[in-house]
Amino acid sequence: MPVENCIIIGSGPAGWSAAIYAARANIQPLLFEGAITEENRMQGTLPLGQLAQTTEVENYAGYPAGDLKRFLETAISKDRIQMMPPIDEHPHAVTGPELMELMRQQASNFGTRIITDDVVSVDLSKKPFVVTTRENGTYETHSLIVATGAKANYLGLPSEQAYKNRGVSACAVCDGALPRFRNKPIVVVGGGDSAVEEATYLSKYASKVYLVHRRGELRASKIMQQRALDNKKIEPVWFSQVEEVIGTEKTGLTTVRVRNVQDQSIRDIEATGMFLAIGHTPNTNFLKGQLELTDKGYIVWKESFRTYTSVEGVFSAGDVSDDNYRQAITSSGTGCMAALDAERYLSHHGII
Ligand code: NAP
Repeated sequence: MPVENCIIIGSGPAGWSAAIYAARANIQPLLFEGAITEENRMQGTLPLGQLAQTTEVENYAGYPAGDLKRFLETAISKDRIQMMPPIDEHPHAVTGPELMELMRQQASNFGTRIITDDVVSVDLSKKPFVVTTRENGTYETHSLIVATGAKANYLGLPSEQAYKNRGVSACAVCDGALPRFRNKPIVVVGGGDSAVEEATYLSKYASKVYLVHRRGELRASKIMQQRALDNKKIEPVWFSQVEEVIGTEKTGLTTVRVRNVQDQSIRDIEATGMFLAIGHTPNTNFLKGQLELTDKGYIVWKESFRTYTSVEGVFSAGDVSDDNYRQAITSSGTGCMAALDAERYLSHHGII
């Protein structure tokens, strides 16, 4: 098999943006978008990244709310549209899944080759680099862009594990409309943008949403927290940590037990669901020992405002190297930077 110029691992905003730039620069990138497996679903690492698990995206520049229906139907291929949630008739802001399909299509339009498979390991100790996939064997590449993003965290309680998929979820958009949550009280844990966004979203289905947060103020942006706090269906439960998830074999989760961290009192909240929105862990397990990572597992950029990693010829973009901004638009921006850095690297070494 010929050595690739550039392999991109990851299919969120960073991966597709890198692919669009690399393809337009004639590098002929090969992108691994991840496999559609139950394991990836459980871990929150399905193709198209975290944005594919969110609702409307109001803050991605260039996508104001409007009548996107006709545009989407003509921009995205029919076979992909079938796999997407139905496109609303009413004018709306672009949704995460729509935005990701548009990026994927845009990268494909410029000739990006896409393989639906997981990368399980890389060997960056020699050149060309070696990329090993779960189903499709190994590939060699002169340059590599890692854009594998991050996945949702869980609290780590054994009882939480026991009720995963039977009431416990880390993806409101994936699971919120399930019958078990309709017109029933549910709990959302966390105080960031994800928590208030999910609480607001879930309030469409649930009879009541308890927003359990360990402090007395939210971390979320003012506009989003106001929206949640003004919502009559949402009740904040301040200074509280989940102690245990209680349920029955037959019905799944029935109660979320929380402890008030100020007075240590216990409260049992009756609920059919608990949605976690307590931050993320970068998807870098397959890189262990190959690239310099931070204590939290994020890929280190070795130079300010460059996507250079600890190995020359390997670049990283998006949430996998960003524990601070973590926005779709910043991921896209760094994806573009990584492609430009890869192009310059390949050109400097006479490869293209
Ligand atoms: P985040 O901002 O890191 O917030 C995590 C929340 O979970 C915090 O409130 C934190 O509490 C709480 N938490 C963490 N560990 C916990 C634990 N073990 N037990 C209980 N609570 C715990 O994460 P995020 O909300 O997922 O947001 C990540 C990034 O994505 C942010 O930059 C955010 O702005 C962005 N985002 C943007 C949008 C949007 O603009 N539409 C939507 C979603 C996310 P403390 O506050 O006490 O630390």
